[in-house]
Amino acid sequence: MFNKKTFHFEHSDSSSKEYGHYPSDDGLKIIRVLRDGSPASVKKISERTGLSDPTVRKKILKLKKKDIVQIKGVRDTSLGRKPKLYQLNASAYFVVGIDFEIPDLRIGIYDLTGQLVSNKMTYFREKIGQKDDNELADFLVKETKNLIHNSHHELSQIAGFGIGVPGLVTEEGFNPFSRTVFNRRINLSPLLQDDLHNNLIMLNDVDLELIAELDSRNLLYSDGTVAVYLSIRPSGENNSGVSVGGGVWYRGSLLHGTGSAAEFGHTSTYIEPSTEGSIDTSCKCGNPRCFESFLNHQIKNSNIKKVSAANSIENAIVQKLKDLVLIFNPTHLLLDLSGISKNSETIASAINTELDSLSGVLANDPPIFINLPNEEMRCSQGGAIAILSRLLNDGEMFWETFVGE
Ligand SMILES: [Zn+2]
Repeated sequence: MFNKKTFHFEHSDSSSKEYGHYPSDDGLKIIRVLRDGSPASVKKISERTGLSDPTVRKKILKLKKKDIVQIKGVRDTSLGRKPKLYQLNASAYFVVGIDFEIPDLRIGIYDLTGQLVSNKMTYFREKIGQKDDNELADFLVKETKNLIHNSHHELSQIAGFGIGVPGLVTEEGFNPFSRTVFNRRINLSPLLQDDLHNNLIMLNDVDLELIAELDSRNLLYSDGTVAVYLSIRPSGENNSGVSVGGGVWYRGSLLHGTGSAAEFGHTSTYIEPSTEGSIDTSCKCGNPRCFESFLNHQIKNSNIKKVSAANSIENAIVQKLKDLVLIFNPTHLLLDLSGISKNSETIASAINTELDSLSGVLANDPPIFINLPNEEMRCSQGGAIAILSRLLNDGEMFWETFVGE
């Protein structure tokens, strides 16, 4: 059966929401304290969990028996009694993060602290339009199992899978509608669950990148983070065009509609094209004012000498960002403008000027992060963080997976 549970990120120290009524959730609180990999004493763990010392000791004993927690040694102190330090056994289990940016496939195996231990990049060599869902699933499963095997791990050591896919994502699958290769819903999740694991989540690839970026800046678990991410990246044959994606992180959760949300690339732009010809509306989104189609039209029909084309690109992006800032009033704005790198500095300064003009209106003056490092494994990393967070917030799933109860 497909797991119908809603996916949530919770604040790591939050006690406001607990899943289920599992008495063992005290153990989960301890794991959440140890998840960054640093060792901690019983005293520190009880301070951070709010559990009593005896409860912490009892739970740690249980986790130690299962080899999930281990003794790190003894802390140096001049005060005579030296407290034992405990840490997560990061290699007790692993999670797999997958980026299936069709046809490219990037797979990473991560330990329980989220460190990459092994990875692989490959691509689907056949014409995707002619392949059915089973063949895509078989390819993904085969490559994933190969990596697990070649890294000398067992499938039973994998606690879960976090998979990033393009387009609109729902529980069963996704529709990468802006791609030219095909336009249909691919119901991959049930097929993968049959072959891999029940602990599997599939999310929009750009959403997963946002998660990885926020995690690397320690913003993922801080209360009140509202982040808007807009990515305009090279795409198409010879990277001649761009694909536009977006994600919104809203106070501890990804913003979702009934499937994924924040397909900023297909929202409207009202900047008029400054180049000849009509905009190619072959984008499958159905919006003749589609922002991504507009950008691709301008890029295709401009060259460096045509300053007006560059201006209209800049204006369209600034307009889009201004709208997003007014809608979400974010605390952080993240931009990947690698698809239009020539203009990214000008665009960034234009955005700053525009935001200054809004500063009397908005509660926040969001810091802007541009030129995010071009990290090949960013989406896979986000997949690993997503499934780890889910495991560490879902008592039932955690105890079934890690302890076999
Ligand atoms: Zn579109």
